[in-house]
Amino acid sequence: MATLDSKIPSGPLEKKWEKHQFESKLINPANRRKYTILIVGSGLAGASAAASLGELGYNVKCFCYQDSPRRAHSIAAQGGINAAKNYQNDGDSVYRLFYDTIKGGDFRAREANVYRLAEVSNAIIDQCVAQGVPFAREYGGLLANRSFGGAQVSRTFYARGQTGQQLLLGAYSALCRQIAQGTVEMFPRTEMLELVVVDGHAKGIVVRDMVTGGISAHAGDTVVLATGGYGNVFYLSTNAKGCNATAVYRAYKKGAFFANPCYTQIHPTCIPVHGDYQSKLTLMSESLRNDGRVWVPKRKEDCDKPPGQIPEDARDYYLERKYPSFGNLAPRDISSRAAKQVCDEGRGVGPGKLGVYLDFAAAIARLGKNVISERYGNLFDMYHKITAEDAYQQPMRIFPAVHYTMGGLWVDYNLMSNLPGLHVLGEANFSDHGANRLGASALMQGLADGYFVLPYTIGNYLAPHGAKKVTTDHPEFKKAVEEVRARTDKFLAIKGKRSVDSFHRELGLLLWEKCGMGRNEAGLKDALAKIPKIREEFWQNVNVPGEGEGINQSLEMAGRVADFLEFGELMCLDALERRESCGGHFREEYQMEDGEAKRDDEHFAHVAAWECTGVDSKPVRHVEELNYENIKLAVRSYK
Ligand SMILES: Cc1cc2nc3c(=O)[nH]c(=O)nc-3n(C[C@H](O)[C@H](O)[C@H](O)COP(=O)(O)OP(=O)(O)OC[C@H]3O[C@@H](n4cnc5c(N)ncnc54)[C@H](O)[C@@H]3O)c2cc1C
Repeated sequence: MATLDSKIPSGPLEKKWEKHQFESKLINPANRRKYTILIVGSGLAGASAAASLGELGYNVKCFCYQDSPRRAHSIAAQGGINAAKNYQNDGDSVYRLFYDTIKGGDFRAREANVYRLAEVSNAIIDQCVAQGVPFAREYGGLLANRSFGGAQVSRTFYARGQTGQQLLLGAYSALCRQIAQGTVEMFPRTEMLELVVVDGHAKGIVVRDMVTGGISAHAGDTVVLATGGYGNVFYLSTNAKGCNATAVYRAYKKGAFFANPCYTQIHPTCIPVHGDYQSKLTLMSESLRNDGRVWVPKRKEDCDKPPGQIPEDARDYYLERKYPSFGNLAPRDISSRAAKQVCDEGRGVGPGKLGVYLDFAAAIARLGKNVISERYGNLFDMYHKITAEDAYQQPMRIFPAVHYTMGGLWVDYNLMSNLPGLHVLGEANFSDHGANRLGASALMQGLADGYFVLPYTIGNYLAPHGAKKVTTDHPEFKKAVEEVRARTDKFLAIKGKRSVDSFHRELGLLLWEKCGMGRNEAGLKDALAKIPKIREEFWQNVNVPGEGEGINQSLEMAGRVADFLEFGELMCLDALERRESCGGHFREEYQMEDGEAKRDDEHFAHVAAWECTGVDSKPVRHVEELNYENIKLAVRSYK
């Protein structure tokens, strides 16, 4: 049985990272260029890592499937990035950010990792400001902050509603500098389809050129996956349509453990689904809950009335009522469930009664339309374009949607998976958010991993193991290339009757129903029985038109959906085995009398890391116990 060594340094919490940095192995600057690092992904996590490692002098090859790193899904991030600068003097500190993040994650994350994250958060802001990221500023010139869910301090730095885009432009500039200097070679429009493992170490990848269809292999001394999250397994999500699980899932099939796959974040403020043919959902940033008030009518009978005709005393500001301390800024999992609850009671609004109001009338009356427009103008415009409704005049309608995935490949404190030589960064790893991520923490984690953690820890693998060079002539590379070719040929040969998209949609809707906002044993078992059947039909009846040579988006999607069809099963299995409710994982059988999540710390205060044993055989569940030495496990309350 494999053991999971998290490699958490000994010593007091606040000294662990400093001590680990000192004890980590260094590579002589003159030797760094002898090491080739393959980085898959150039979103915030991958671009920041590639730029930093290039600057250090390593020989970096960086891959992404978009036509430019600037188009990574990170660009979509709207609301902001957390840091414990305490510019507001409102009581923030590294310790408070650490505590809020652990509590926000429902006590299912590693203390040492989260403390390090809070510690380096301030350096991220300095780095980005130095790059020219145009964060919002106060009148006097200091960087401005706003509040996000799960915190009672204002620690979120932002650039209007485009924080991800601006941060990505900063990371991209740093990356371009290295490309120009020749330390980073960039491979856009290139999709990784296989990980190559030689003698138990990750030593390479096989990729497909998405323009020519050419399949090739790349060898390196270590592989870094920064390939983002897998929310699109649900078909409808706030993620970019291209987001997928292929890189991490193929690594899982080659021996990397997948941790907590059932932890999915459902974001409470998204534009409700409006039709059967919709393929994408849109987030309305959490920052809106700084000024917007969430409500539904108190009486079912009022739900069809225009909101303006429902008087104040007939409205239920349910978040303010249930969670008076945090009010509209209750964390995402809690706010999402509260929205579902009022809709389940029949008090939802809009088509299908699957919506709640997010109302700015009070904020506009208090601050004026101009202030609200300055803060959120682009979000209001986006809402108007999608719904044809003016949110300055009437409340927005919002509903929870799949948004982020806390699960991912298991990594130790060095960000290395159990598979030696395979490092995993950003949303692709399971890392720091436990069972629920607080708003504005993903950008912080991705950039912490890329700018400030991996550059220190990568030497711990390279120094002892980097000397063992392999080339693409090794039989494992030839085998992996053949596997990719064979899979491509198989897709094209099926010539069935159903589109790739139809299978994706069927799987996604099943997962949303059975493994979405609420899960129970019967539903999960039902999904586990159905998914293999959908998969079987896929391999007999999918229609992938076109050819392998050249651009073929159906072929790209077929590979990703084939992986989702296996991965969805792993999610349900993980959700079934975790017999408790925590954060984004709400098992209906385990709830308090008032409907809040009921954790079981005695049996489940651990990370579940799954080992693949083949597609049709049950994976093995490994456990990493979470030891809380500084924080006392408590019932998570935002009341
Ligand atoms: C609408 C929206 C708004 C958000 N707002 C915020 C916010 O305000 N604050 C916050 O903290 N978080 C926010 N998040 C979450 C945050 O944006 C993401 O978690 C984060 O940007 C992920 O960064 P990443 O670098 O890990 O992955 P990504 O940005 O998704 O990048 C993945 C990279 O991997 C590449 N890739 C993937 N698979 C392959 C493959 N097989 N082969 C080659 N390349 C591959 C892609 O091309 C891309 O370059 C938001 C998310 C969404 C959906």
